[in-house]
Amino acid sequence: MRGKRIWERLLGVEKTVVESVEFEERDGGVVVVGVRARSRWERRACCGVCGRRSPRYDAGGGHRRWRALDLGTVPVEIEGAAPRVCCAEHGVVVAAVPWARHGSWFTKGFEDTVSWLATRCSKSAVSELMRVAWRTVGRIIGRVAAEAGSVVERC
Ligand SMILES: [Zn+2]
Repeated sequence: MRGKRIWERLLGVEKTVVESVEFEERDGGVVVVGVRARSRWERRACCGVCGRRSPRYDAGGGHRRWRALDLGTVPVEIEGAAPRVCCAEHGVVVAAVPWARHGSWFTKGFEDTVSWLATRCSKSAVSELMRVAWRTVGRIIGRVAAEAGSVVERC
């Protein structure tokens, strides 16, 4: 398995291509992984809210970052493009990306882990272990539960 494929597995991302891996010295050290959606996903621009194919609108705010699960004790951030589409129902919104849920600053793997932990421990314990705000735990659980209850076919 080649280096970039290993990173895709370590990060738990699907339909995603790892383009770069860098170490930033800020905040005691952060691994920043540059990604893009696989070509087939990128060509099918979809609304981040409902998942329906939608015409591209613009590049949005450029690249942004999502927090991923830590690698050992080192925090990881994923950096990728966040273009916008024009959905017939939701208007101009950020396009769906394969590694994160709409409106989230965390990867799906991070949110899934937080949600699972929340079924086993107190919200305060999850907050402390995952190093996220107590209120963020609640918002993450809300997104994961909404997706689990959604009947809309996603991209
Ligand atoms: Zn939509």
